[in-house]
Amino acid sequence: MPGLKYFGYSVFRPYQKDVIQRIIEKRDCLVVMATGSGKSLCYQLPPLVTGKTALVVSPLISLMQDQVMSLKQRGINAEFLGSAQTDSSVQTKAETGYFQLLFMTPEKACIIPISFWSKLLKAGVCLFAVDEAHCISEWGHDFRLEYKQLDKLRTFLLGVPFVALTATATEKVRIDIINSLKLKNPYVTIASFDRKNLFYGVKVINRGQSFVDELVQEILKSVAGAGSIIVYCMTIKDVEEISKALKQLGVKAGTYHGQMGSKAREEAHRLFIRDEIRVMVATMAFGMGIDKPDVRHVIHYGCPKTLESYYQESGRCGRDGIASVCWLYYARSNFAKGDFYCGESQTENQRTAIMESLLAAQRYCLLTTCRRKFLLNHFGETYSAETCGNCDNCMVSNRERDMSRESYLLMTSIQACGGYWGLNMPIDVLRGSRVGTPPQ
Ligand code: ADP
Ligand code: ZN
Repeated sequence: MPGLKYFGYSVFRPYQKDVIQRIIEKRDCLVVMATGSGKSLCYQLPPLVTGKTALVVSPLISLMQDQVMSLKQRGINAEFLGSAQTDSSVQTKAETGYFQLLFMTPEKACIIPISFWSKLLKAGVCLFAVDEAHCISEWGHDFRLEYKQLDKLRTFLLGVPFVALTATATEKVRIDIINSLKLKNPYVTIASFDRKNLFYGVKVINRGQSFVDELVQEILKSVAGAGSIIVYCMTIKDVEEISKALKQLGVKAGTYHGQMGSKAREEAHRLFIRDEIRVMVATMAFGMGIDKPDVRHVIHYGCPKTLESYYQESGRCGRDGIASVCWLYYARSNFAKGDFYCGESQTENQRTAIMESLLAAQRYCLLTTCRRKFLLNHFGETYSAETCGNCDNCMVSNRERDMSRESYLLMTSIQACGGYWGLNMPIDVLRGSRVGTPPQ
């Protein structure tokens, strides 16, 4: 197919060619493919083949700017249409069909005057892509209200195929995307979510200094190898604590969270991408669009809010296909925060979705069977094997063991404590700890 040379690829990845062909035939598409599988090419190539403009809506400005930059470097006319003053010239140029790719936020797409769309349409539009399309669904983990209004553009962009792309979609979300965007007889592609090169492991921890020391040692071990490391923390306080501990040991670690200014965030991102820092300690704000091929280790310090976000965050590991590891360390106290995530402004559906996802993430932590199978089943994919051989539970030493004796002792101890104490007391008693003197 012409145009592939712009990207320096010799062959298509699975599904890319099919989707591109359907788009050229003007068919609506829903593309569900794992992070790093190459979704962007599905909307980047059609404009080069058809000579018409591709419109792309995406939630994050920084993500679009990165794409625009890399497309320009490949000699492709791409631009971001924001809200700054320079945009009037971008807009004028766009109306003539000058740009092969034109990116904008959903907010911008909704306020653009009809006259702009009709001029653009006259010049030629080959597709309207909605990236990160799960943001449209209240059942998704990243709902954005503006996404819900994108369907009204269908009336202006007559005859233009709508292409929804996402890396996360349970069946509910998929149906929501199709309905919200009013996709007509869409060509649906759901690629396997299995990231074979990723090892998944989970450990329960006791929060505190001794764990922080342990974690820092883990990171040091990783740093000694090749590639980069991302440590996802649940709070900004944790980000600061871990990065401070790393710095004390002389490890140059970047930090990234929502309370940092945009300049500082961009700088941290840039240093990480350019390998000037190999460890990034961040909250989930360090999010979409991190296209770094050689992240070898993603650590979660705390149970993530949803299994969807866990899958996406851990999915930033091993994008180049080389074996990489994803460890999740959770504390039991992580599980008590369900209501905390449900704000008052949320609808009943959103609350249910949040609670369901939270429970799924907790179940993932407590699992004694194959973690990959559980993850894939959660995304509606059947994994026929019982074991994958590449997660902690599938490694021989972690197989199920008969714990009836231990359970009996624990129950007896709980009973002996009379139900007045938390779980720590009966555990201390069993361990013979000095603090665990049984109550009289
Ligand atoms: P996604 O949007 O699905 O997360 P991207 O579109 O960012 O994934 O692509 C991930 C990586 O795969 C990028 O580095 C991209 O250059 C590369 N890639 C995409 N398509 C191909 C291909 N056909 N051949 C080789 N590399 C590809
Ligand atoms: Zn497994």
